Amino acid sequence: MPFGIQPIHLILIIIVALIIFGPSKLPEIGRGLGKSINEFRKGAKEMTEGFKDEVVNADAPVAAAAAGAPAQAAPTQTAPAPSAAPAASTVTCPSCGAQNVADAAFCNKCGTKLSY
Ligand SMILES: [Zn+2]
Repeated sequence: MPFGIQPIHLILIIIVALIIFGPSKLPEIGRGLGKSINEFRKGAKEMTEGFKDEVVNADAPVAAAAAGAPAQAAPTQTAPAPSAAPAASTVTCPSCGAQNVADAAFCNKCGTKLSY
């Protein structure tokens, strides 16, 4: 049963209704009860859908972050290659031995012209 209502509860409700209202009014109560349950279910459904919308909206940034995490992780995974790259893209100063970027015109330490 939905909403945690057990069949025993319905039976108890019917018994209580019988005691309070008497058997003669039961069909009328039954109709009213059915209508109430339908309205309650309708309201509960709308509430649930509204809640789901909020959950979806709340999850959206999380999902975006989760989707962004692999994208952020990818550069760190490819990082070893760029970290190896500087060795190839640096040039050792012939004068002082300092490491300079490959496209540097002059040594950043001693100023020696780095030309090929
Ligand atoms: Zn130098």
